Amino acid sequence: LTTADLIDEEHRICVCVRARPLNKKELTMKDLDVITIPSKDVVMVHEPKQKVDLTRYLENQTFRFDYAFDDSTDNDMVYRFTARPLVETIFERGMATCFAYGQTGSGKTHTMGGDFSGKNQDCSKGVYALAARDVFLMLKKPNYKKLDLNVFATFFEIYSGKDVLTLRVLEDGCGCGCQQVQVVGLQERDVKCTEDVLKLIEVGNSCRTSGQTSANAHSSRSHAVFQIILRRRGKMHGKFSLIDLAGNERGADTSSADRQTRLEGAEINKSLLALKECIRALGRNKPHTPFRASKLTQVLRDSFIGENSRTCMIATISPGMASCENTLNTLRYANRVK
Ligand code: ADP
Ligand code: MG
Repeated sequence: LTTADLIDEEHRICVCVRARPLNKKELTMKDLDVITIPSKDVVMVHEPKQKVDLTRYLENQTFRFDYAFDDSTDNDMVYRFTARPLVETIFERGMATCFAYGQTGSGKTHTMGGDFSGKNQDCSKGVYALAARDVFLMLKKPNYKKLDLNVFATFFEIYSGKDVLTLRVLEDGCGCGCQQVQVVGLQERDVKCTEDVLKLIEVGNSCRTSGQTSANAHSSRSHAVFQIILRRRGKMHGKFSLIDLAGNERGADTSSADRQTRLEGAEINKSLLALKECIRALGRNKPHTPFRASKLTQVLRDSFIGENSRTCMIATISPGMASCENTLNTLRYANRVK
């Protein structure tokens, strides 16, 4: 991909897919790669190439998106083709959203938050941070400088647990035990530079994972929402929402024997379906946006209406055969968004 491949500015909805490399666990279990990205916008799910046995596990399935990123693509590149074009939108008084959608372990947090694997706690190369960096760069441009804009950021999660839907602000003192707090009116932080934003992301990320048996135990069940808000004389000028969605495999938990798990699964299912409908409505300029169907879409409702709203979805997929069913679900969902 080169910058010449960037799709035109008129495009309101951009849908991309990103495949990560096979990880250690998959390699140990001798899982096989079933994903090929033959060109910049095509993904193929096929029987493993390594297999000598000719049994067909899958029919070849081909999907086309605005962009397809293979496992050699880094965050910076993914960012350039997805969230980067939306930074302008919020300076032009618009609303922008960027979602990472996919099964747990497919790379949503790696893409949005940055590298939190092992000892690494580097959020500087995630889409959140790259977007924040460019917001501060744009602010210096003469055109925008004269507008006298102020930048705010907020980081929270939407979690359906203990029978209640909660919005938890991911900040110091959120009670990382973690007591769920019902928050009315989200707290926005006044941010002056990229470093301020990085701190917020770092704290937010540790809030999300602390007290969990695995980093994914909680985050797979909650949507994390990071927002950059531009204000002019106190009034909102533009807003960029970047969302690390709950794992989409959770929707399948609706048949679980455990009531709590079932309720969570149902809520996640509902929100992901509502999200799809809202994005589709945005793309078709429909007068009615069905945002009331879930907490997630209610929180984001102002981003789905209005002339100047743009959105981007990054569907993340695991390359292994073991994940095949989830991968196909992810690709079908992403395919339907447009
Ligand atoms: P999710 O948030 O979708 O559950 P993660 O982002 O936590 O998944 O990714 C799971 C693991 O895979 C992490 O250890 C992460 O560092 C690694 N990973 C994800 N995407 C990539 C990638 N594109 N390249 C290298 N490692 C990746
Ligand atoms: Mg995650």
